This record gives sequence, structure tokens and C-alpha cells, in this order.
Amino acid sequence: MRYYTIEVNGKERVAASADGRELFILSRFADMNDLIAQGGICEIPGDAPRTGEDVKILSPIPRPKQDVICLGINYAAHAVEADRFSSEAFGGERPYPIFFSKRVNYSQGPEAGIPSYRGLVDSLDYECELGVIIGRDARNVKREDVQDYIFGYTIVNDVSARNLQTRHKQWYFGKSLDGFTPMGPCIVSADAIAFPPALGISCLVNGETRQDSNTRNLIADIPEIISMLSEGMTLQAGTIIATGTPAGVGMGLTPPTFLNEGDVVECRIEGIGSLRNIVC
Ligand code: MG
Repeated sequence: MRYYTIEVNGKERVAASADGRELFILSRFADMNDLIAQGGICEIPGDAPRTGEDVKILSPIPRPKQDVICLGINYAAHAVEADRFSSEAFGGERPYPIFFSKRVNYSQGPEAGIPSYRGLVDSLDYECELGVIIGRDARNVKREDVQDYIFGYTIVNDVSARNLQTRHKQWYFGKSLDGFTPMGPCIVSADAIAFPPALGISCLVNGETRQDSNTRNLIADIPEIISMLSEGMTLQAGTIIATGTPAGVGMGLTPPTFLNEGDVVECRIEGIGSLRNIVC
């Protein structure tokens, strides 16, 4: 199943689609967090109204209940390029995964703008990532049981201001500006994707492929991430985990090449879709 949050006549509604083309409104859920808490649906109800053609697709979870949990430096080739950009910020031994978080007051969906913050940000960057959505409260979950706790998957663009990320040492501010977490276009339910996910992941800027990898290349894989975190913190239903980005971000290019107003960033993950945004 594919789950969407859409705007219909100015109102946010939750919708589902079996094929990614026809969308049906699920009126009994208040929003996506409610749908996740109730475990989603097995099949689209026969009386669910079909949406029109010109529906606006929003982020699947426009207002996450908590900060997004993120993995840093979780693809080997990205570790090399990040170290080349700034050894002080990104170098060194990492025997354990890097976890950080990202404030998201409002996550925007496909086609929405990514603010450039001219004057504050001089190094705006993209990071295409597989987002994992937790389906039920997870505490002390064993590696082999992790799959049972996953509601589904989406695409997250972990937009980053490199100058703020490195200047403040701690990454929180540079990752958390308003508009820095586009997500979408939908959540694909966990049962629709083989576990662990081995999906092509790529990012294009103005049509040029910048990132091109596969989620099987994660250093800390999804069972490790969720079992490790849940050993000490309850991952509540609706939690969003951004699993890290592959090589090819702007700071990794030679010379580093950052986003400018008007640039079109398209994040793609096989089996989920495309998340396209324009820098404004
Ligand atoms: Mg990231």
C-alpha cells in the first residue's frame, strides 16, 4: 500500500493507493500519525472516494510528532568525500553509528520550495535518504525482530547548511532550518518492500545525476540502527529515521558545488518514487 497526505479543498486528508496512480481518501483517519498508530489498512475500502486529477500531494507526515532521528556518515563513499571537505567536522574513527536529530516544524512535500536563506547560508546542500517510519512503539527490539516494527518507507531530503553545520560543531542547527526536510511523495508500507531494503537511491540536480547508490550499502543497517537505539530509548510509533546519504553531495564534489536559487533537486528511491523540490 502507498499512503499519502494530500490537500483537498484546502484541507489535509490521508489517502491510499494500491498502484500509485489512483488515490482514495481515507476519511476515518485524522492524519498520517493517526493512520500509523492504527496500523494502516489492509485494503482500500470500497466506499472510499477517489480523488480528482489535480490533487496536491503534501509530505506524508507534514508535522512529525518528534524530531527526525538521523544517521551521519552511513555510506562508506560519503565518509571519504565528507572527510575531504572537512576532516575536523567529519573525519576520525567511527566504531559506532553517528546519531543526530533534525527539528521539523513542518515538512514540505513534492514541488515545494527549499528556502536558500541568502545571507545566513552560503553552502546549501542536498542529501537523499531512505526514511524509515516506525509502526509501533519499539523498546529493546532484537535485530531479528526489527522488521515487525517498521510501518513503511519514504524519501527524505536531509537539506543541510554546511557553514552552520560546521561552524556550530553540533549539526542540529544547520540541519533544522524551516523547510530543510522535504519528504515524500508517499509512505510505502513495509510489506511491499523486501527486507532489508536493497533499493536504488539517487539524486539529480538540474537533471544531472549527483548521487547514485543502493540502500544495501548502509554501514549501519536498519536492524542495527533500530535494535541499538531501542536498547535505550523507546522509538514511538510515527518516529522517522533518516538512514544517511550516499556519496555525491555538493560538499563532496571537486570543487564543492552548492545549491542556488532556482536549482531543481530530485531525490529518487526505487519502489518509492521521486521527491522533486526547487530552491527558492
Ligand atoms: Mg543526512
